Amino acid sequence: MKIITTANEMLDYSKGVRSLGSSIGFVPTMGALHQGHASLVETAARNCDKVVVSVFVNPTQFNQSSDLEAYPRTFETDKGLLEQLGADVMFYPTVDEIYPDGKSEVSFDLDGLDEFMEGPNRPGHFNGVVQVVTRLFDLVNPSKAFFGEKDFQQLAVITHMIEKLGYDVDVIGCPTVREAGGLAMSSRNMRLSEEAKNTALAISKTLQQTRVNIEDFGVDKAKDLATLELKSVPQFELEYFELVDTKTLKPANDKTSEIQACVALWIEGVRLIDNMKVK
Ligand code: AMP
Repeated sequence: MKIITTANEMLDYSKGVRSLGSSIGFVPTMGALHQGHASLVETAARNCDKVVVSVFVNPTQFNQSSDLEAYPRTFETDKGLLEQLGADVMFYPTVDEIYPDGKSEVSFDLDGLDEFMEGPNRPGHFNGVVQVVTRLFDLVNPSKAFFGEKDFQQLAVITHMIEKLGYDVDVIGCPTVREAGGLAMSSRNMRLSEEAKNTALAISKTLQQTRVNIEDFGVDKAKDLATLELKSVPQFELEYFELVDTKTLKPANDKTSEIQACVALWIEGVRLIDNMKVK
């Protein structure tokens, strides 16, 4: 596996591969890799000739500097896992390589997809995500890019913006990989005690129960029940629990045909998100 650290070298590599008519599958990550990331890399390898995985903790998508500083960085283990998975390139740039003109704030019109959930709770977050993804796409020139449904709203924003900005890249969503008990895998789980991981099982259980509750009691009551359930766990600080239209991400009602339950909460100072299709 090649390790590329500069923008120019990345451009040279992608030009070389694409000029031979080969496809590039791209998996952008912030490192601290786990089986969720591995599943994206495996899917990319099945679908494309070459696989590029970026490991870059993007400062412009963090709205709290303490969160950015606490973000786990595990270069050696990441490299080992990517080698094992057969990735062709690990792209590991510095902040200066990605933002040579400084990390100035950008503002995209996300057409309302940032109106709810992560949008209001993490101001500037999705602008930072679109900023880094477009910069990485310019360097990696992928045919297909693979993102996890774990970050459901992010996937919706990227799919929409990549089309709107005219990129010729297929954005492919991949299912959330979970621990045996149901906890969605996340780099942030590394910062949790065993006890907190156990407590956090209530998140996926509540999402699953919501599917049943929507059938039995309708959308409003199901939302109230889930909110009550999550608020009753003393270790949780609930940020939001929302039932939204899977396509538009607007609040769902009983007439909505496809519904996603989305949750964000804090435990032991770590912010966890999860979501599930519940109708
Ligand atoms: P991150 O490193 O957290 O920015 O994630 C990089 C990519 O991996 C994103 O597209 C995430 O949605 C995806 N991802 C993170 N956790 C999981 C998971 N448990 N299952 C599937 N994909 C995931």
